[in-house]
Amino acid sequence: MAKISNIETYVLKDSLEKNFFFSQWNYSERNICIVKITCDDGTYGWGEGYGPAKIVESGINFFKNLIIGENPINSDLIWSKLYRKSLDFARRGVLVASISAIDIAVWDIKGKLLNLSVSELLGGAQREKITPYATGMYFTDKKNPTKDYKIEAEKYLKKGFKAIKMKVGLSIKEDIDNVKYLRSLIGKDIKLMIDSNHAYSYTEALELSRKLEQFDISWFEEPVSPEFYEQYSELRSKSKIPIAGGECEYLRFGFNQLIKNKSVDIIQPDICACGGLTEAKRISAISTANGISIVPHTWGSSIGLHVALHFISNLESIPGRMKEANFYLEFDQTENALREDLTTPKIEMNDGKLLVPKSPGLGLEVNQEALEYYTKKTIKVEDLEKLIK
Ligand SMILES: [Mg+2]
Repeated sequence: MAKISNIETYVLKDSLEKNFFFSQWNYSERNICIVKITCDDGTYGWGEGYGPAKIVESGINFFKNLIIGENPINSDLIWSKLYRKSLDFARRGVLVASISAIDIAVWDIKGKLLNLSVSELLGGAQREKITPYATGMYFTDKKNPTKDYKIEAEKYLKKGFKAIKMKVGLSIKEDIDNVKYLRSLIGKDIKLMIDSNHAYSYTEALELSRKLEQFDISWFEEPVSPEFYEQYSELRSKSKIPIAGGECEYLRFGFNQLIKNKSVDIIQPDICACGGLTEAKRISAISTANGISIVPHTWGSSIGLHVALHFISNLESIPGRMKEANFYLEFDQTENALREDLTTPKIEMNDGKLLVPKSPGLGLEVNQEALEYYTKKTIKVEDLEKLIK
């Protein structure tokens, strides 16, 4: 019986060649915390947490002693131990992302020990190929945020994407102009989604939704603050555009609240934040019990992307039918070397689809050179202190 014997965290950083921004702030770099958990027999697994990398790292270190000596086969037991240890002071937030990172690494180990892929461990792949949608269309220029739309849209169509998600949240007028422009570029056969990253008040969101109905929008993501469950529900009852949300939500308890309040048509848990694969599986049960669709949020490195592929492959189709509806995967297309270079084999898109990895565990190997390179780019707290002195 393998026992967990070591936990190592890595905070990876890459500076972007070109900044981009959305309704809340500007991105000039990518920071991600990943974790490697090793057992006494040498088996190891990788995990990733979503959120401020240094804080995710501190959280993992906080939990470290609790999992040393545990049997990774008992993933539910490990999860409960971590949850109970943090419940009193961190029911939501970054500490749950730290639990998620550990949980994902435990599933990777478990798969390797049992010689099964994570999708098999989850209960089997209901589908071998997943349809990705392109997340992009961020703003790149404050004067003319849409100046790169044409090049970007052409790139996605050429790659084979059949669905694109764009950013809104600048102002109602600018959003309408931008959506109209992008719809004219991509034609009527490509699915188009909008994401305001909770930029709007309820009245603004309702106005925008009504004015954008004519552009055949597949969903309106995070229209209002994630704190306002009832406003979500009110908006959903009046909007002809389906409402999506949940990337800032945590645990089955948070998603239960979102669903009980009839707040969304589509929930979007981030598996690297919401409690890992263990909890995401429970969240998917709540969503299917209520007829709510699930399209996970994915943003970080290629580890998170693998996790989402396995998870989506296992999602149950309710109701099922001969010609199944697409189960979408969010495939971020913004500049991110940690998505491109960190792991092998590379995730390739073919005929507009991504293949679910079949090798044991998550089905990836971390490239040691890339790991060292992007870790060195991180300034450690001790180094910062030396610099200040
Ligand atoms: Mg979003």
